[in-house]
Parts: sequence; structure tokens; C-alpha cells
Amino acid sequence: MRHFLSNLPLELGEEELPPRKLLARVLGGAEEDFEEARLERRSLDARHKGNIRFLATLSFRSRRDFGAPDLPPGCRLEAMAEPPSFEVAALPRPPQVVIVGTGPAGTFCALRLLDYGIEPLLVERGPSLGERVSKLGALWTRGVLDPEANAQFGEGGAGTFSDGKLTTRIGHPATRYVIDAFVRFGAHPRIATLAKPHVGTDVIRRCAVRMRKEVEARGGRYRWNARLVDLVLGPEGLVRGARLQGGEEVPCDALVLAPGHSARDTFEMLHARGVAMRPKPFAMGVRVEHPQDLVDRSQYGPSRGHPSLPPADYQLTCNFGPSRAAYSFCMCPGGLVIQCASEEGGVVVNGMSNAARDSGFANSGLVAKVNVADFGGEQVLAGMHFQRRWEQAAFRAAGERYGAPAMSVPDFLKGRATGRLPPSSFRPFAVSADLRTCLPGFVEAQLREALPLFDRRLHGFASAEALLLAIESRTSSPVQLLRGEDGQSLSHPGLYPCGEGAGFAGGITSAAVDGIRVAEWIARKAGAPVFHPFEKAVRASESAAEY
Ligand SMILES: Cc1cc2nc3c(=O)[nH]c(=O)nc-3n(C[C@H](O)[C@H](O)[C@H](O)COP(=O)(O)OP(=O)(O)OC[C@H]3O[C@@H](n4cnc5c(N)ncnc54)[C@H](O)[C@@H]3O)c2cc1C
Repeated sequence: MRHFLSNLPLELGEEELPPRKLLARVLGGAEEDFEEARLERRSLDARHKGNIRFLATLSFRSRRDFGAPDLPPGCRLEAMAEPPSFEVAALPRPPQVVIVGTGPAGTFCALRLLDYGIEPLLVERGPSLGERVSKLGALWTRGVLDPEANAQFGEGGAGTFSDGKLTTRIGHPATRYVIDAFVRFGAHPRIATLAKPHVGTDVIRRCAVRMRKEVEARGGRYRWNARLVDLVLGPEGLVRGARLQGGEEVPCDALVLAPGHSARDTFEMLHARGVAMRPKPFAMGVRVEHPQDLVDRSQYGPSRGHPSLPPADYQLTCNFGPSRAAYSFCMCPGGLVIQCASEEGGVVVNGMSNAARDSGFANSGLVAKVNVADFGGEQVLAGMHFQRRWEQAAFRAAGERYGAPAMSVPDFLKGRATGRLPPSSFRPFAVSADLRTCLPGFVEAQLREALPLFDRRLHGFASAEALLLAIESRTSSPVQLLRGEDGQSLSHPGLYPCGEGAGFAGGITSAAVDGIRVAEWIARKAGAPVFHPFEKAVRASESAAEY
């Protein structure tokens, strides 16, 4: 058994003290009494501006009896079992598996399958990283879009150019497998202890390449620029393989479908094939950008500038009844706003940052919940068409180019054009435009109502320094593919819907965990014993991504 001391308050500057020293201070005795002492988790408690502090969880082994120690308020000492090992045995007769998509879901599915000795083939519609980086360079500097190589498609999926926040609230044991893997492939070991782990797009790209090399070294294979265009079906809808662009058929026993939320042609093909799916709510709105210093001032008060404090973040929510809400989403301290279009004639914005979070800007999605009833149609793909319609409106508002229509917050609230836009990190260019032309009326109304409330909670949020850029439309998948308790599609056995596009995840870590769960289902069907830690269900919110 290990002992866990949780919620231990630490003054700014104390967070790097050795765990043993802290334990001896709180529990008494000598530092030597605490064996294998380590920091498990650390979070920043900035609720009280005059008393910003860290909360730490420490763990250790000890032969001492601690009785009922006198602990600071909120702090707890308890004994817990060690977490289970993820080791499993290789299967004697591994099945043939094809994975569609090399995002976090596809990649972690591959890594876990390899633990069972299953050597998958990964097919990816986009190119490998080097080519993808140069295609994105063309988009972000000259506004030239490649629909197959962009912020959504290509090696590593949407995760590669993400902000690299690995936060999740799903509470699943496989989260540890994911975080450990990121550390093994190049992320700083510190992320394993942070309540809000962040690696940044620079580090995540390095990890993506190392993960691919590991998959290849263990027997997995990749095909780039290889788009799935159809399912190869046997009797009763049994999936027997993948048909790729160009007509090639790749046979398999299990087809893992992890295409992300932007694979609209793939959703159309699946729908035409009668794959069981349903429309799913999501959220839509704009990205808001401020000087980072404005956010630091408001969040940290007199402690702003303390060397222990990272660039400040925020999380703002405003509920308008049971099914309506506006909220901040994917907040990127020290980040950049980027063009994330993947379809010609449509504009999409999102945010990312490097590990250093040093751009001088803070950005966040500012979105309102979009329910299925808002889609304006009953069809399964109505949500996808709804997203596309507003992305095309944003493209028109930006002058039919891949810039982003933009407005200052005070002008948005007053309904008048912005003469001179406040400074922004967005590339290739922001265009002053009336955002009412590219937002659904109910979304615009909720943002308009929420902004003054958010300004009261974060001073300056609605000031003239705040810029809105449209449109933040790819917050999560507009559909969910239906699967049974064995992970297989309800309509097409042999097909394993997976990750964010299939509607089972909302972010890097939860998509990776879903990839692992799918690998477990495939291994079990091939004869592997039940691996208990992964049996646990995932706590997930339906419409919202969670990072
Ligand atoms: C700019 C940005 C910032 C983000 N920041 C964060 C963050 O900080 N934290 C966080 O948790 N999440 C973040 N996300 C979201 C995160 O990236 C996604 O939730 C995650 O990548 C989903 O993983 P996935 O594997 O399910 O799908 P994806 O990562 O979308 O991968 C799907 C892959 O499938 C491929 N594909 C699609 N269709 C086909 C086909 N027909 N044939 C072959 N291949 C196909 C695609 O090219 C793609 O590579 C961000 C996303 C973006 C765009």
C-alpha cells in the first residue's frame, strides 16, 4: 500500500521543495521515514487573488503509524493500492487490423494493439509530418489551402497542431497509459503530476514522430495519402476490409475507424452504407483574443509576475437554462489563433501554443451550445451541413480568402464595424467584418449576453483590446457512430468506431483513451483475457469537448 497526502497547500515558491521535506514538515518525523516519496499531482489554486497557492498530492511508503495527524484544512491522508501494471501477453494468433486515421485515437489504438502482438496497418489520408508542415506554412502565410493536408488532416491528426493540453475529466485508468507514453516519447516528466498538463504543439509534433517510429519498430505499418473511400462488405454487413482511394482493397478482420470530426466525405460514405449513426450536439462561436498581460492582471492580482506562476488561464460559463449555455473552450495562454480550415470555401479558427506559451497573447473559444433541434433538419448529417454553412459564411465575410472575419468586442456588442482591429496573433490575416453575418442568430445572441457577464468575472474581457475572430465551428463531432458493448458498430460487425469523429471523445487524451479501449475490445475478441482496469466506463459529456 502507498500513503497519499492530498490537497496540501503550498505557498508560491514552495512547489519545487523535495516531497520528503514537505512530508516531514506536515507529518512530523525525519525525512528518512518517507520511502519512495513522490509528487503525484499539483494544481494552482487562484480562487483568492490575495492568497494564490498550489495544492499538492504527495505519495510515499512508510512503516510508521501516523495516527490522526493534525493537517491543514482540506488536506487528507489515506492509504491506497498501487495502480495496476499495463503489461499483457502477446496473442498466439493475432488478427489483421486496419486503422483509419493517425490522430491520438488511431495512434494509441496501434500502440495498445502492439502490446498484444497485433501489428496494425494505419492508413492516413494526409501526408507525413514534413510535408504537412510545409502545406500548413502555405496556408498560414499565403492563405493557400490543401484539403488533404491541413490542421485537421495528416500525420498525428488534429492533435499535431493542437494546443497540446492533455487535460481530461473522463477519470479512466488508461489516462495514465497515455500520459506515460507522452513522457516516454519526449514530453517533460512534469506533465505526469500537473492537474492541467500542457505540452504544446512543438513538443507534440516531436512525440508524434517518435510514436510513429515506435509503431514501425514493433511491426506496425503506415500508408500516407491513403484515404478510405469505402467499406469492403461481406454477408450481413460484416466488414471485411477497407477500400482506399484509387480502388485498392485492403482485407482485415477488424477495421478501426478513427477519422476525427472533420472527415465529412467519410461520414457521407458511412451514411450511404447504412452505418448506424445519429446526429450529435456540439458548440459553435468565435475565438476571443486578449493580451496575455490583461488576463494575468485580472487572474493573479498582486501576485502577477511571480516566477512560480504560469501565464494565466480562465474558464468562463454562463447557463441560459437546461439546454442553452455559452462558455469559454480550449483556452490557450501564450498561444496563437490559427486557420484550421479543411474544406475549400470555408473558414475555421482554433488556438494553439508552443510549450513556452510565450506569444504574449491569450486566446480561447467562446462558444454556445448547438442542439440537434437547431440543425434545421432531421437527417443524420444535418449538424455537419450546419457547420459547413456557417464556415462558408465566414469565408465570404473574409473576402472569399482564408483569412478570418474579425471585430473588437465593444463593436460586436454595439453592432458596428471595427475601424482598426486590435493586435492579433492570427495568421495569415484578419479582416474587419460584421460577425453577425457568419454566426447563427441564437449563438450571436448568447455570446452578446455572456460577454458583459464574463467581463465582470475577468476584468477587461470585453474591453477594446479584445478581438473576436470567426468561426469556431469544429468543437466536436456533429455525429456519433453507434457501437455495442464489444466496441463494434451496431450495424456493421468488424467495424470499430473510435475517437472524436465517432463521437466518443473530446480532446487528445480522451481520444487516445478511446483508441486504447478499442484495442482492448479487438484483443478480447481475438482471445485475450479481460484486462480489468480498462473495463471502466468513460465519463463523457455529449456536446462539449473537455480541454
Ligand atoms: C488547433 C487545435 C487545437 C487543439 N487543442 C487541443 C488541446 O489543447 N487539447 C486537446 O485535448 N485537444 C485539442 N484539440 C482537439 C484534438 O486535437 C482532437 O480532439 C483529437 O486530435 C482527436 O483525435 P482523433 O484521433 O479522434 O481524431 P484526429 O486527431 O482528428 O485524427 C483523425 C485522422 O484521421 C484522418 N482521416 C480522416 N478521414 C480519413 C479517411 N477517410 N481515410 C484515412 N484517414 C482519414 C485524418 O487525416 C486525421 O489524421 C485541438 C484541435 C485543434 C485543431
